Amino acid sequence: MIIGGVLLAALATAPFPLLLSLALAAAAAGSAGYLWRRVRERTDATSRAASDHQIELEQYRRRFLALQQEAMQATTALSKMRDGVVMLSSEGKILLMNPAARKLLDLALEQNYIGRPLSEVVRIPDINRGVSRTGGGEGPQVVKVEVNAGETVRPILCHIDQIAPAADASLLMTLRDETESQRVDQIRREFVANISHELKTPLAAIKGYAETVELAIHDDPQAANHFMKQIHTQCQRLERLIADMMQLARAQAGKGNLNFGAVSMSDVVAESLKSYRPIAESKCVELIVGDLSTAQIYSDSEAALTIANNLIGNAIHYTPSGGQVRVSCRPDPDGWTLVVADTGVGIPEAEQERIFERFYRVDKHRGANGGGAGIGLSMVKNLAITMGGHVRVSSQPGRGSTFEVVLPRAEA
Ligand code: ADP
Repeated sequence: MIIGGVLLAALATAPFPLLLSLALAAAAAGSAGYLWRRVRERTDATSRAASDHQIELEQYRRRFLALQQEAMQATTALSKMRDGVVMLSSEGKILLMNPAARKLLDLALEQNYIGRPLSEVVRIPDINRGVSRTGGGEGPQVVKVEVNAGETVRPILCHIDQIAPAADASLLMTLRDETESQRVDQIRREFVANISHELKTPLAAIKGYAETVELAIHDDPQAANHFMKQIHTQCQRLERLIADMMQLARAQAGKGNLNFGAVSMSDVVAESLKSYRPIAESKCVELIVGDLSTAQIYSDSEAALTIANNLIGNAIHYTPSGGQVRVSCRPDPDGWTLVVADTGVGIPEAEQERIFERFYRVDKHRGANGGGAGIGLSMVKNLAITMGGHVRVSSQPGRGSTFEVVLPRAEA
């Protein structure tokens, strides 16, 4: 109060110029505060906008990366696909073509076909007709064509469909190599034909013999007896064939049908020789068995016996009198190898792969002459593969054959 009173008294007595300067100083101090506040407000807004912009930029960056990744994934998927994919514009120009499509259509992998009319690049009339039809509004088309690729002719199945009529990318064509599925179809057809033939032959023989027996039974009982024996033989053949078929089905059914465990190779071979030694003796084929005592395989014992039976049985069957069959075993990096070697008729080089196919016989007449139906080795191969092993053959016609089956070792 006292200071205020003194100040007022001083102002009342102060000269005019001093009062004016004081008033101006006060006013200046007031506007600077205002300006400072505005500047601060502006700065705050700018930094807020800058950080909003920063966030937006970050969001764009992430979205771009996600899109880039998606595009990369789509490109990788398309490039790794086994089916061919071709995208076409409404005028039939190529917009996209994956490597599989180039391969299936036998086109150069390094050439750029984008933007070129499909009809100019792919000169297969059926495909171009299909594309025109779908493009012309006739709906999806399925076209089967054969493409010559060097020395092979590939069956290709093409599906042509519209994507979106108004869009730039108008048509989508997918191509699938049908070689494998046609092969499977062919195998199935052959299998049915083979099995029918194998069943028909002994059945026809049984029917013929039975009619003869009927006629001969009173007038010629001896002949009737002979034909009865033939009927019996044919019945045995049928029985063997059906048993083989069932074993083959088991071999092809996979691991689920097998009981795995440690199996002694010498037990398996000894069991097999119980059946085959008498046959070898009656044929005067010498059977030599090597030392098998330490070999323990991880296998299904019945499957291992089927393998041994087929290899030993074949070796004896295809070795003429005076020949030899050796059964032995040796360690292999992958397990144990069962070796069945004979000095028999041998197998021509060109047939050595094929003998593992179902119903394949080198000599087509052997089946009728006491050989099997050509199922045995297919069973051996299937079983060996199912048990984690493999089979191989080496042979020289007239000198003999050696079959080797590698099976996994049983853990100690
Ligand atoms: P099969 O029941 O006719 O013997 P396999 O599948 O066991 O059928 O054998 C297929 C074909 O392989 C036989 O028909 C025969 O021509 C040939 N083969 C198999 N083993 C031998 C062998 N040890 N010596 C010569 N040929 C063999």
